[in-house]
Amino acid sequence: MRNAELIFIPTPTVGHLVSILEFARRLIDQDDTIRITILLMRLRGQPRLDPYARSLASSQPFVQIIDVPELEDNRTSVTQSVEAHVYTVVEKNIPLVRNIIMDVLSSRALDGVQVKVKALVLDFFCLPMVDLANEVSLPPYVFLTTNAGFLALMQYLSERHGKDTSAFERNSEEELSIQGFVNTVPTKVLPSALFWEDGYDAYLKLARLFAKAKGVLVNTSIDIEPYSMNHFLHEQGSYPSVYPVGPVLDLNAHPHPDLDLARREEVIKWLDHQPEGSVVFLCFGSMGRLPSTQVKEIANGLELCRHRFLWSLRTEQQGPDSRLLPEGFLERIGGRGMVCGFAPQVEILAHKAVGGFVSHCGWNSILESLWFGVPIVTWPMYAEQQLNAFMMVKELGLASEMRLDYRSRSSGGELVTANEIENGIRCLMEEKDNASRKKVKEVSRMARKAVMNGGSSFVAIEKFIHDIHHRE
Ligand code: UDP
Repeated sequence: MRNAELIFIPTPTVGHLVSILEFARRLIDQDDTIRITILLMRLRGQPRLDPYARSLASSQPFVQIIDVPELEDNRTSVTQSVEAHVYTVVEKNIPLVRNIIMDVLSSRALDGVQVKVKALVLDFFCLPMVDLANEVSLPPYVFLTTNAGFLALMQYLSERHGKDTSAFERNSEEELSIQGFVNTVPTKVLPSALFWEDGYDAYLKLARLFAKAKGVLVNTSIDIEPYSMNHFLHEQGSYPSVYPVGPVLDLNAHPHPDLDLARREEVIKWLDHQPEGSVVFLCFGSMGRLPSTQVKEIANGLELCRHRFLWSLRTEQQGPDSRLLPEGFLERIGGRGMVCGFAPQVEILAHKAVGGFVSHCGWNSILESLWFGVPIVTWPMYAEQQLNAFMMVKELGLASEMRLDYRSRSSGGELVTANEIENGIRCLMEEKDNASRKKVKEVSRMARKAVMNGGSSFVAIEKFIHDIHHRE
């Protein structure tokens, strides 16, 4: 009987929602008493997610979605960083979410089947809701859609603030000693928000709130991040339990609302005709829109490198993106390359024709490429991607470096030149025997094993399930 309910609160963006729903599916598969209720907030300025969320959730029989009503006072003050904006919106939603949780709890109390709500699982950005859980005597857990290295940075942030209360200097050459990292971490690979006062404040508040959680579920595995994970697994202090439950991926590739299905068919058909491991895939995440000057550099780099390519091109401009390509580019490329818009990334990385990935280093993209054993060359753009790139290249030896500290133009980034792009792609595609390519294949095997029955991430989920059923 499905009588143990968990309430999940994701950040309402596609990337966060997809992993949290997939995690819900794993819990439901691993324990036949669990059912899940997801409270879906609205972020102003974001496309409405509801139809997509509903289509994802409808494939999960024991998942129910409750819409949090739109905020009456929808205005937010102008913030320097997105993170500060999201923090404020989440805080404003607290009273609305409290009402829904109270309703759920009282209706379950009246329910004849004796469903018991066991825990509240908050996305990282929803940590300001942690006190709600305590108010209603539910244990609060955090689901981190990113990695253990990021969690180590959060732990470092709250400790550092005791000695130094200032935001970080963007141009500082300082190297930081962060527990959980093998190497010192250059300040310039920190998330951009930490260079802004309001972003620093938001991150600091979030970092401190981890202490109030009962546990942190991280979308990683011990094999992917052995050093950072061991730091947390052997942590002696009062830090919450950390459960490495990943990789949590949506491999069934539900069609994303931005995906053009006819174009998807053309892309896959084209890949079917390319030799094994010959195509480099370029894709910069759900928000990676490029300025026209950068589009030209990439196009020139692709012409120079002479490799086959599939490029998910999305620009900052209105109108058709291909308009910004250099004149005659598509004719000169002929059948050697293909340019598409929003790409069916999982299917592409799974395709045997793909031999390398120029990636913005979003954590989902990294996990997908590791899963399919496709090596990455790093081109981080926003959020915590510079830290992810640093980890992949320097900490884990799982990627080659194009840039570690690039920032998108909205964060003051400069151009990556055609020659850098050419060299990055050549290094990725031509060194077939290099150590990182072999290591990627090895980690891919281990990550797949980790989520199988008896694997380390499967066992971590079992432990979480045990802990919510047997809380004091
Ligand atoms: N994605 C996709 N096609 C695209 C761009 C992104 O399918 O053209 C998917 C990708 O497979 C991944 C997610 O969107 O699952 C992006 O998540 P990630 O954490 O890598 O980056 P974000 O978009 O959050 O920056």
